[in-house]
Amino acid sequence: MVLSSPRGTNDVFGEDIKYRDFIINSAKDLFRLFNYSEIITPAFEHTEVFDRGIGKSTDIVKKEMYTFTDKKGRSLTLRPEGTASVVRAIIEHKMYSEKIPVKLFYIGNMFRYERPQKGRMREFSQLGVEAAGVAEPFIDAEVIWILNSIFDRIGFRNLKLMINSVGCEKCRRDYIRVFKSYIKPEVESFCPDCKVRYDTNPLRIFDCKVEQCKKIIEGSPKIYQHICADCREHILKVCHYLEKMGINYFIKEELVRGFDYYTGTIFEIISDDLESVQNALGGGGRYDNLIAQFGGPPMPSIGFAIGIDRTILLMRQLNIKYLTKELKSAAYIALLSDKFYDTGLKVTKLLRENNIPCDISYKVRPLSSQIKTAVRDGFSHFIAIGDDEIKTGVFNVKNLEKHTQFKLNINDSSKNISAVFRSSL
Ligand code: AMP
Repeated sequence: MVLSSPRGTNDVFGEDIKYRDFIINSAKDLFRLFNYSEIITPAFEHTEVFDRGIGKSTDIVKKEMYTFTDKKGRSLTLRPEGTASVVRAIIEHKMYSEKIPVKLFYIGNMFRYERPQKGRMREFSQLGVEAAGVAEPFIDAEVIWILNSIFDRIGFRNLKLMINSVGCEKCRRDYIRVFKSYIKPEVESFCPDCKVRYDTNPLRIFDCKVEQCKKIIEGSPKIYQHICADCREHILKVCHYLEKMGINYFIKEELVRGFDYYTGTIFEIISDDLESVQNALGGGGRYDNLIAQFGGPPMPSIGFAIGIDRTILLMRQLNIKYLTKELKSAAYIALLSDKFYDTGLKVTKLLRENNIPCDISYKVRPLSSQIKTAVRDGFSHFIAIGDDEIKTGVFNVKNLEKHTQFKLNINDSSKNISAVFRSSL
């Protein structure tokens, strides 16, 4: 029997790793520019972290968590998202006592028991930021600026940035009353999930994909029209800064997000180009009460996460190439006889010590087939090891792209070896 990876999981290798590295490196460059530092949290947490953080009535907590009991009977859960863990870590390590805001970024695998389809996995990678301890709308716009810049640097041009406000606790409560009384006569026509949501988490009805439910709420009052004066002033300021930053956005009054912790500003970035139903590339929002709810000090905060796998899908679809930071020069060393392994080793060692990536043929094969392999695998340079080269210590290095060649004397100084390679690029 051939074993396969579990449903909804992927092996990431080959070209996808290059796309992934490119996305991560571009994002890391930006995080540095915006003064965020990295945090790595565990892949699993006490289940309570997510129950309390994300909210017990959300789809994620109710249906999608990988929860297990360990050998000591503790309930643990593979993280379905990054924010709750980061918040737990900020409080546990009292990061706020050093400086505020606490500005962190993370990169990691997330786990959700969802129905897999193109762009939707059970294990997927996200990268995200959390800025904790600032209430000013300026930071909302700045966080959105980072999100926007990540995709801009990758080369996406047709994305839509949607913004909304889900209000503070008070105005949301008032709105929910209005919304519930509007839809009350139709409750029996909702799908089974929305019937439950009506009682537990009515805002989530806006995320339902069932046509009948969508129709019922089409003309309903939207939260954006019902937020209080403070929440309105806040979101309008965010919009003002976004305009100053030259970032295109539009207000989407029915936008909601899958976590209960959000307050005020929320946002999502989508691509209509993504050839899958799953068109959201990233999203986030404010969570002004979460840190206090977890037992920390009052720390209004905001963050976002983007999906790395979906970003790769879109890059591939749009034929966007990754720029690699790898040294382009990579030499293929061909062995023409069994007795040349020692010299092969000497040459590879010398090149690697000089930061020139290289590989060796491992097996003795005819010269022509080795050249073919080197071209196929994208090597820029080719070095064959034969009797003459061993005698003189001088090797012909062929540049496979430019069809030129130069001589490499392995007894030369390191400086000269690097220089001679680099000048042939
Ligand atoms: P969320 O944490 O749900 O706000 O999602 C943030 C981003 O992560 C989304 O916009 C997607 O790009 C990505 N994402 C969320 N869920 C999945 C999934 N099941 N598979 C792949 N990517 C996902």
